[in-house]
Parts: sequence; C-alpha cells; structure tokens
Amino acid sequence: MTVPGVAINLRGRNALVTGAGKGIGRATALALARAGAGIFGVSRTAADLEEVGAEVRALGVQWGALAIEVVGAVSAGRAASAAIAALGDIDILVNNAGVARNARAEEVTEDLWDEIQNTNARGAFFMAQAIGRRMLARGRGRIINVTSQAALNGLEAHAAYCASKAALTLVTKVLAIEWGPRGVTCNAVAPTVMLTPMGTRVWGDPVKAAPMLARIPLGRFGVPDDVASMILFLASDHASFINGETISVDGGFNAQ
Ligand code: NAP
Repeated sequence: MTVPGVAINLRGRNALVTGAGKGIGRATALALARAGAGIFGVSRTAADLEEVGAEVRALGVQWGALAIEVVGAVSAGRAASAAIAALGDIDILVNNAGVARNARAEEVTEDLWDEIQNTNARGAFFMAQAIGRRMLARGRGRIINVTSQAALNGLEAHAAYCASKAALTLVTKVLAIEWGPRGVTCNAVAPTVMLTPMGTRVWGDPVKAAPMLARIPLGRFGVPDDVASMILFLASDHASFINGETISVDGGFNAQ
C-alpha cells in the first residue's frame, strides 16, 4: 500500500502507450518515464516515435517502439508481442490513440464512421484484450483508456466520435467488473479540448472555439500535461482502489 503524500514511483514497471507520438500520448509517455517506468510507444509515424524515444531514454528508463496503426486484434497482437519482447511484461496500458474527423450527422459516411470506430473503440478494445490476457495471467495490471467529454455529452458534428468514445466508456466498465476481481483495474480519463495537434485542428478557429471555451468554467482549453498527470495518478499505487471510473479533466465543463 502506498503512503499518501509519497511521490509516485513506477520504477520496475513497464507501460505501453498508444498514440505516443504526439499530444496527450507523448506527454503521458514522458510523465510515466519521469516516474521511472519503462515505456513502449506505439504510434503511426516512426519519426515521432524516434523523437519521443530520445526524450524518454534521456530520462534513464528503457524504451521500445513500434510504428503501426492499431485498429483491431491483429495489429494489437503485434504491438503487444513487440512490447513484451522489448521490455518484458507490461504493467500499465494507456489506450490513448484516437482520431477525430467531424461531420454533421446527415453527412456522415460509412467510411468516416468505420475509421473513427476502428481506432477509438475497436483498436482500443483489442489492445486491452491483447495486453489484458497477460495481465490476467500475472494477476495484476492497470488499463487506462483516454475517452473524451464527447463520451458524456452530445457535441455537434461529433456523432461518430461521440459513439466511439461512449463505447470505450462502457468497455471500461465491463473490463472493470470482469477483470477487477483478477487484479486488473480499468479506468478512463475524459478530457475537454486539449491543445494538441488534434485539438488545434478541430478547435483552432477562434470563432468555433468561443462557445466551447465559454462552457469551461476555468476559462481555458487544456494542455497535454493536464491529462498526463491524471493518467500518472491512475497508473500509480495511489489509485489502487479506483476501478471502472471515468474521470473528467475538463476545467469544470461537466459541472454544469
Ligand atoms: P493527436 O494530437 O492527434 O495525437 C494522436 C496520436 O495518436 C498521434 O501520434 C497519432 O499518430 C496516433 N494515432 C492515431 N490513430 C492511431 C492508431 N490507430 N494507431 C496508432 N496510433 C494512432 O491527438 P491527441 O489530441 O493527443 O488525442 C489523444 C487522445 O485524446 C485521443 O484518443 C483523442 O480522441 C482524445 N481526446 C483529445 C482531445 C483534444 O482536444 N485533443 C479531447 C478529448 C479527447 P499520427 O499523428 O502519426 O497519425
């Protein structure tokens, strides 16, 4: 049991972070590395992973990476095998990879729908399955899914995205009840708009951003470290009795 007030220490643990190349995933990889965890980064662009890898290694922890698009059981299995081969058993899975492509409901195509579900829901579920099987065999593990305020609220032009993140929210609860008794916890973090490449692409227009900003009592959009801090806490022994929860990191958006 960890003593409250003692700094988070993840030395001796390994974490797999999907979408580690940019934004929230990158900040999370670095936060976990600063706490001492070995990091396996999974993302689509190899050059991004090389940059993050250099920063992680400079912190004196182990690093491995695979550039792959995680969209289902085959790609998740490849990522899991590569991570275990590089670092050994994985203690923490951060299912962060996600895509956003918005369209009003009457314009959503099957291709757009499938693209969003394949990464945000299907890929994340099968990643949890691939790593979760090993965690169950060891009797311990932490899974942290990055969902969104769009999992909890309807947002204009976000039908496919909202559906994908709501799906991952309920997957989080199912894994919590199925795997919690076997030592593996599963929680979610639900950010509001974060100033990442994705957030800037979707919300960079100040006219579009103004009504969203007005709904955030703290009066600003988030930065990747706001989310990474919560993921770090959920990955730590300080969060050992939290399971099946979705924690908003949203400056109070959901308080209204
Ligand atoms: P980002 O800036 O677009 O970065 C996403 C990272 O994930 C990129 O490195 C991307 O690689 C990678 N990626 C995307 N799909 C992938 C896949 N199928 N397999 C492997 N890697 C994949 O996004 P972000 O803003 O950091 O978002 C991270 C997570 O937070 C997502 O799940 C997103 O839905 C969620 N979120 C974001 C916001 C926000 O405002 N930013 C708000 C709420 C929730 P490439 O760049 O090489 O394609």
